[in-house]
Formats: sequence, structure tokens, C-alpha cells
Amino acid sequence: SRTPLTLLGAGAMGTALARAWLAAGHQVTVWNRTPARAEALAADGATVARTAAEAVAAHRLVIACLLDDASVDDALDGADLTGRDLVNLTTGTPAEGRARAAWATARGARFLDGGIMAVPPMIGVPDSGGYVFYSGSPEAFEEHRDTLAVPAGTRYVGADPGFAALHDVALLSAMNGMFAGMLHAFALIRREDIAPKDFAPLLVDWLTAMAPAVHQTADQLQSGDYTKDVVSNLAMQAAGIPTFLRTAEEQQVSPELLAPYLELMRKRVAQGHGDEDGTGMIELLMEGAH
Ligand code: NDP
Repeated sequence: SRTPLTLLGAGAMGTALARAWLAAGHQVTVWNRTPARAEALAADGATVARTAAEAVAAHRLVIACLLDDASVDDALDGADLTGRDLVNLTTGTPAEGRARAAWATARGARFLDGGIMAVPPMIGVPDSGGYVFYSGSPEAFEEHRDTLAVPAGTRYVGADPGFAALHDVALLSAMNGMFAGMLHAFALIRREDIAPKDFAPLLVDWLTAMAPAVHQTADQLQSGDYTKDVVSNLAMQAAGIPTFLRTAEEQQVSPELLAPYLELMRKRVAQGHGDEDGTGMIELLMEGAH
């Protein structure tokens, strides 16, 4: 029989998760700070708990999908977690994941942290591409992997409870950089007689063609040789910096999204690494945090 579970949080994501488990035949007890959002799930077969403590008492598997780490404190304050398996799908930092794991363990629970790589419309849709990173108790993951796989794919990334958040935020950070580049590109063409819809497929194809550079960077990081298989060395790339900046100026576009990246490239070349790929810029980023 399917594992019954408790879900704390009936926001956009929590509601999508609840519907997926209910549709798969799981018994779901739901709690939400604002009762109306939980009650909307009663029509789909959920049991609505009046308090978070009552919801936690209902089932051994407890899943939290709340706004942020502080809201997890607010919700679970006063709940008895003894013998519970707490799965926290609330987005947070690696340190928050580790602290939450210690907090849950001290209260007698096993703990898994999760990072959701999906938006609500992808939840419960097979082959949507959406998945969730999990880290923390390997025993809890093994026991619940089939249940956790109901709303979205699962990727367990290690016993360190901070790793789910770390993987999640790392991927989203790369996405932010890609979006920054996309916005700058559209800004460059915006004043001209170029239809964004004509430009869009060119941009998608180019970003897709460039994406495998990720593998080359990984290969160089693991070998420690940043000159390995270099196609476009950093000195050549840096020679193009004025072209990027002057084109932005000609098109009356602020270089603010692009400039920090170009500046880091310039620094690395100035340190005598013009024969390398961009991989060495990672060292500058890591030094810069001190
Ligand atoms: P919503 O804003 O729709 O819902 C937030 C939920 O948190 C609500 O249930 C809200 O309760 C509750 N909440 C907020 N503050 C508190 C508090 N102090 N105490 C108790 N409950 C609180 O957000 P989502 O459902 O979209 O997001 C939930 C989590 O999922 C977030 O961590 C988000 O980062 C993550 N996520 C969301 C994605 C998305 O596209 N939506 C994608 C990937 C991850 P109330 O109804 O009472 O306000």
C-alpha cells in the first residue's frame, strides 16, 4: 500500500505536490498557515489538519514546502518530530540545510533536504523534465524513494544535507548568468528593425551549441590543466572586450550585466594566463570571496 504522508504548506508548489500524491493514491494530511489554501485540497481527498503539530502527528513521513527557512521554524515550532522522517523541500542555502538536519536529528527525526528543479505545472507530469535534488539520510531516501518519485524525478546527491541546496542554487546561478546574457543580447537589437521573434531561434541555437563547453571546463578542472584542448584562448577573448563594450555603447545599452565578466577575464589575462581557457577565472572568483 502507498505510504501516507503529511504535507506542510499549500502554496503554489505544495498544492501541486499534494495533488500529485493524491492522484497516485497516497493518503495526504495537509496543513497550511492560511486554512483556506489547505481546504481547497480537501475536494481532492486530502485531510486538513488544524495545526502543524497535529499534521506532524498524523504520519511518519512529513514533507515541508514553505516559503523560506524561517517559515519552517514558524511551522514546526512545538511539533513533536520523534520518529519522523522530515523532508524539507523549502528552498534554502547549504548552511540552512545542514542546520535544519542537525535541528531535526536533535528532535529524533531522520532528515532529507530537497531542492526542487521544476515549476508547479511540471509537478506530477511524467517526462516533464522536472526533478528534485535530495541530500541527507541515505536510509530515509532509500525507504521513501518511490513515494518521493511520484511528483517529480529524484536525484540523491549525498549524505551531506547541504548538497541538495548547493546543487539547486549552483544550477540556478548558471541559469541567471544565461538569462543575463539573453537580456543583454535582446537589448542590443531592440532599437533596430530586427524582430525579437526572428532573433530568438538564433539565440537558442547559439546557447545550445555553446552549452557543451561545460564539459570542457569540468575536464580542465579535474586535470588541473586549463590549457587542455583550448579552442579560444583567453588572450584572444580579452582582445574582444572593447568590441563588446563599444557595441553596447553604440546601441545605447548599459554594459552592467556583461562588464563584471569581462573585467574578470581582463584580470586573469593580466596575471599571465592568456594561453588558458576561461576556467582559471574560477580561481579569481574563489579568491575574491576572502
Ligand atoms: P507560495 O508563496 O505559493 O507559498 C508559500 C507557502 O509558505 C504558503 O503555504 C505560505 O502559507 C507558507 N508560509 C509563508 N510564510 C510562512 C510562515 N511564516 N509560517 C508558515 N507558513 C508560511 O510559494 P511556493 O509554494 O511556490 O514555494 C514554496 C517553496 O517551493 C519555496 O521555498 C520555493 O522556493 C520552492 N520552489 C518553488 C517553485 C515555484 O516555481 N513556485 C520552484 C522551485 C522551488 P500562507 O498560505 O499562509 O501564506
